[in-house]
Parts: sequence; C-alpha cells; structure tokens
Amino acid sequence: MSGQINEFEMAQKQFDGVAKLLNLDPQISEVLRWPMREFSFRIPVRMDDGTIRSFQGFRVQHNDARGPHKGGIRFHPAETFDMVRALATWMTWKCAVADIPLGGGKGGVIVNPATLSVAEKERLCRGWVQQMWRNIGPRQDVPAPDVGTTPQMMGWMMDEYSKLAGQYTPGVFTGKPVSSGGSLGRTEATGSGVIYTVREAMKHLNLDPKNCIAAMQGFGNVTQYAAIGFVDMLGGKVACVSCWDHKDKVAYTYSKKDGIDPHFLLDITDEYGTIDKTKAQDAGYVAEDGEAWITKEADVLMPGALSGQVNADNVTKMSKRVKIVAEGANGPCTPEADEYYKKNDIFNIPDFLCNAGGVTCSYFEQVQNDMNFYWSKEEVLQKLDSKMTQAFHGVLEMAKAQKAYMRDAAYMVAIDRVVKAMELRGWV
Ligand code: NAD
Repeated sequence: MSGQINEFEMAQKQFDGVAKLLNLDPQISEVLRWPMREFSFRIPVRMDDGTIRSFQGFRVQHNDARGPHKGGIRFHPAETFDMVRALATWMTWKCAVADIPLGGGKGGVIVNPATLSVAEKERLCRGWVQQMWRNIGPRQDVPAPDVGTTPQMMGWMMDEYSKLAGQYTPGVFTGKPVSSGGSLGRTEATGSGVIYTVREAMKHLNLDPKNCIAAMQGFGNVTQYAAIGFVDMLGGKVACVSCWDHKDKVAYTYSKKDGIDPHFLLDITDEYGTIDKTKAQDAGYVAEDGEAWITKEADVLMPGALSGQVNADNVTKMSKRVKIVAEGANGPCTPEADEYYKKNDIFNIPDFLCNAGGVTCSYFEQVQNDMNFYWSKEEVLQKLDSKMTQAFHGVLEMAKAQKAYMRDAAYMVAIDRVVKAMELRGWV
C-alpha cells in the first residue's frame, strides 16, 4: 500500500462506478467485488548462514469464469494482502478486455529480493511453490514474473512444480527464459502492443502517423519497444523519451531536434532503463528536466514509466497539439487528468487495454508450452497484433455505443464478458 491509498478499496470503487453505469445486478456485483479464493502462507527458508527465516507469501485468485487465473508474483518489502487483491482484480479485467481465455490472479512475498543471495532466492521460490502447487497449474492458475521476480525465478518455480507434480509442466509459469520454454517476442510484446493500439486510434481519428510526433516517458522495456514501433512500424517521429538516472539521482528527458533514434538509445541504455547521459550528449542529445517530456510539441503522449505521472499539477502543461494519450504504464494518469482529457477531447487508451500485450504474449507462451510446438517471433507478433487490434475495436465500439469515455468503455467490455461467462456457467 502506498501512503493512505488502499489499492483494493480503489479497485472496488472503480468497479462499483462501472457496475452502476451498467445497471449490474447488485448480487452479481457482490460476487465480482471480491476475490474467489485467497491464500496466505508462511515460507520457511534456510539461509546461507544456517538460520531459518520465515517469509509471508500470498496468492489471490480473483475470478476464473473465463479460464485459469493469470498474474504475476511480486517480491517486495512493502507487499500487502490488499495490494495483491487489487492487482488480482485488475488482472481479471485486463484478460477480459484483451479477450484471452484467462481470469485474474496475483501473488507476492514480503521480501526485498536484493537482500538475498542467489541460493536463498532459489530456496524462497521453491518454497512458494511447495505451499501453492496443489492450487496452481496450467488449468488452474498460471503465475508469471512481476516486480522483484525474474525469468530465472520462473524457471526454478516451474522446475519445483514439475518435480512435485511428477511431470514436466512448462505451462504452469510464464515469463520463463526462452531456452526453458519462454516465448519469442515477449520482450517486444508490451511496447509493440501499445503501438498497435496507437495505430488503430490514429485510424479512428484520421491522423497520418507519418506526420505525427510522440513524446514518451521512461525508457524501460515498455517504452523502448513503443519508441521503436512508433518510428519503424508507423513511420512517425519520437520527440523524446526519459529515464531515471541512478548516478545523478534525478530523471532526465532526452530529445533531439529531428527526433530520437530509439535503436541508438537502446544500445546505450543499461538493464534498468537508464540511458548513458555522456554518450547521449556526445551524440547530440539534449538532457533536460525529467518533467519536460510532458510539455513537448506532440500528437501522442505515452506515459510508460510509473503510476500517477500525469496529474492535477502537470496535466495543463501538455501541448495543445496532443490528441492521444496512450497509457503504457499501469495507472499513469490520475482522475484529474481524465477530467482534462474529457474536457479537451483528448483520446485516451486506458492502461489495461494499452499495455495488455504483455499478458497476451504470456498466454501465447502457455499455449506453445501446452502444444510443445514453438512459433517464430514474427508469428507471435502477428498474432499479438491481431489480438490487440480486436481488443481496441471492442472497446471503441462500446465507447461509441454507450457514448462512454474509453476507460469506462474498457471496464464495460471486461465486466460484461466476465458476467456473461459466469451466467453461461450457471454461477449467477
Ligand atoms: P522498467 O523497469 O523496464 O523501466 C522503467 C523506466 O522508467 C526506466 O527507464 C526508468 O529509468 C524510468 N523511470 C523511473 N522513474 C522515472 C521518472 N521519475 N521519470 C522518468 N522515467 C523514470 O519497467 P517497464 O517494464 O518498462 O514497465 C513500465 C510500466 O509499464 C510499469 O508501470 C509497469 O507496471 C507497466 N507494465 C509493464 C509491462 C511489461 O511487460 N514490461 C506490462 C504491463 C505493464
């Protein structure tokens, strides 16, 4: 939980708002406001010095009417049960809006993984699986990496599950390294997915991408491939990207007069998404204040770093030219920003639609694991394009039909699909 905000109360409030718009039966709402199953458990781990530490672990399974639960496992010192509940709920809506046959789930452990040795991390991962293995699996619940967890950890967890289940079961975890059952294209998936939705929004608004400029926040996994996609796929120009500088302990916006070259910047960026300032400046890039990205002359704004970045304090600083806000990050725009977009006719692509490319590719990974037959990167990205395009138009049609704001329309699509699945299965 961050500060005073309880994320689960927020998730319930968002749901209540749309349930009201949809005139949802209160008895059905009551089912969807709460996770279906919750697990809270202790994981004893022998540390390298011979002592035993007991860690608090969680798994929350929100709703599986449309298919097995899906969602990451977070290793974070400030993890709470309510945070995991909220994220599991949001996963139900994200999978439903992307129209992939999966439900919502999330897991966590209260731990700072940076304080553990590699061997301790492996024992903690295996311990998590020992507690949960009877309640996860390719047909039940498929976890993945998230904050503080990595593909290597998914490899250990998949191995532990396979040993306990008595058979090789790669489809129980996604986000594995490519050499042990991961999917090609996963690295590019979220950023490319963002661009597929931007492309469709531009068609809808009659904008020619070749005449369009984008300004992006962040330069991690999402923004790197969104920037590459905006330039290579759409033929547009990216005015700037930004990043946190670990050395200077401030954020910088990097821009260049004729647009940035995302491939060059990727070459001089470390694994944490920090651009080498000296190399960038030597190549003619200007490093400005971290907030400058929002003020750039651009048609598309893409906040792709952190939550709460476009807010009451800075939303009015955005260029009057902006026509699309594509939410690459989770929760990057506050309700005050939403009000500004509505008033100024700015088209919003909400986060759980815009960045659904990641979970969609995780679904493809699971499908490939199940078939034991693997696709080329091109095939993965082509299937991703088709899924994201369909998802975008599903939401756009709802927005038109209900005269709704895109974020509300995305919730409407998602809730409607989950309710239909529950009705068809006779749950409600
Ligand atoms: P990442 O850790 O790879 O990159 C984060 C980037 O943000 C880095 O470049 C970092 O320097 C930058 N940053 C940090 N603080 C900043 C600041 N104050 N100003 C400007 N830049 C700053 O993360 P990511 O995987 O790219 O994820 C970014 C967002 O997208 C997160 O909200 C994440 O939850 C969401 N998301 C990611 C995926 C995925 O598949 N990677 C999928 C869905 C949603």
